[in-house]
Amino acid sequence: MSTGDPVDKDPLYLDYAATTPVDPAVVQAMAGCLTLEGDFGNAASATHVFGRRAAARVETARLQVATLIGAEPDEVTFTSGATESNNLVLLGLARSNADRGRHLITTRIEHKAVLDPCKRLEKEGFVVTYLTPDRVGRIDPDAVRAALRPDTVLVSIMYVNNEIGVMQDIGAIGALCRARGVAFHTDAAQGAGKVPLNLRTLPVDFLSFTAHKIYGPKGVGALYVRRGSRPLLQPVAFGGGQERGMRPGTLPTHQIVGFGLACEIAGERLDADQARLMGLRDRLWNGLAALGGTHLNGEGAPRVPGILNVSFEGVEGESLVTGLPGLAVATGSACNSASGEPSYVLRALGRDTQLAQSSLRFSVGRFTTESDVDFALEAVRDAVARLRAMSPAGLDAWGAGALGVGGSSAATGAAGASEGPTLIKGEAGGPGQEAWVRFHLAVDGGIVKDARFQAYGCPHTMQVASWLTRQLPGRTREQGIPGTPAGWAEALSVPVEKLGRLLVVEDALQACLGRWPRGA
Ligand SMILES: *Cc1c(COP(=O)(O)O)cnc(C)c1O
Repeated sequence: MSTGDPVDKDPLYLDYAATTPVDPAVVQAMAGCLTLEGDFGNAASATHVFGRRAAARVETARLQVATLIGAEPDEVTFTSGATESNNLVLLGLARSNADRGRHLITTRIEHKAVLDPCKRLEKEGFVVTYLTPDRVGRIDPDAVRAALRPDTVLVSIMYVNNEIGVMQDIGAIGALCRARGVAFHTDAAQGAGKVPLNLRTLPVDFLSFTAHKIYGPKGVGALYVRRGSRPLLQPVAFGGGQERGMRPGTLPTHQIVGFGLACEIAGERLDADQARLMGLRDRLWNGLAALGGTHLNGEGAPRVPGILNVSFEGVEGESLVTGLPGLAVATGSACNSASGEPSYVLRALGRDTQLAQSSLRFSVGRFTTESDVDFALEAVRDAVARLRAMSPAGLDAWGAGALGVGGSSAATGAAGASEGPTLIKGEAGGPGQEAWVRFHLAVDGGIVKDARFQAYGCPHTMQVASWLTRQLPGRTREQGIPGTPAGWAEALSVPVEKLGRLLVVEDALQACLGRWPRGA
């Protein structure tokens, strides 16, 4: 890529749930709306042909977008994407109905583009109920029913979860909301254009989606507003009155035209793409399941074809991603998130912190082939085998095999002085902290014979712990810890601002040394 090294190849893209490349036909259509020869006009300029042409292009696109979801064109409001659509409906509806009620219902596994506006509303005095899914990620419609209150004004539950691909029963949830006269919104950014969606029959009042998850450009999306539900909403921005004043601002013709064509193509290909992607996803899962110690997140629940989320026992997600330079995938590990927390979605499913950390999300798409899947499988197989061999389970085998120790634990041989090796464990960090590290040392005759580690945390933590396991063999108890965190940081070019992260590594090693029995 940018390294200038001619042999550097881009990794294989398996992150279609994060965003998709734009379809070449869409690029072409967009390019036709930019230059003087094209339809570059301002759709609001009704006085001349440039404006009228742009307006016609926008209305064609509106029809294409509406058709994909079974809506009427005047039910589509263009926005900058699903984040804005979610904000518009959550803030716009809650604020304009505050005199009727100040309670909303959503789930713990929503995208941040729903959770953060909810947090904002809580600051403004609204009350939000966050429903917890079951172990496979499904929200029970009965739990929604039970959470409804006389002052509930909106229920917002996503159609398809972006991390695990699990689909919610929005038909049943929408129906019970309707029966109680409560508005229902769904974030369908991962559903629209990927699975069938027909708003003529689905009891949904508001629906958010976006172009860049379906081979359209970034920066454009839509909010579907059912005709009868329009009065419930007030705008969050004010300006030139475009989009019936609900979302003012000059319409980005090229973005909207690209979105429209992307929707049309997605609709045409939907059935064939679904079947193909499901085949690829299942091929990938069958291969991963054969590795053993793998858990399919969302197993048994209805899921979209393109997303596969897997937790790997005995390896840490961040080191797995680092160990897979040939694949572009997402992980649930803490480092991957701005918050420094492991995936809140997997935690909400009841996965412990460690399994949540050790997860990878593979998402396949229009340009993924069967041989891509096989390539990915081989890469993951190698990386998992390598990382598991480095893990303490391998050390136990080493101790038992090479030195004749069976089923050893912390204090084996401590009483009998130098009769065989002693395995020592020491750890630091853990729940509620950024990282957790445990060292395992095999000591014999007063020196470290072998060292292994287990950890979760940021790549720097992993890198330093791994490096230390190579420095430790041959050292005595009295020599103590090899160097200092500052020295490790320098040796491994860890940025100074990350130095604090290494303290947990030092603490874990200190704990180990503290448990090294005299004479072992
Ligand atoms: C991608 C995504 C969003 C955000 O969409 P943008 O168009 O990038 O703002 C919101 N919700 C879900 C479920 C998503 O997957």
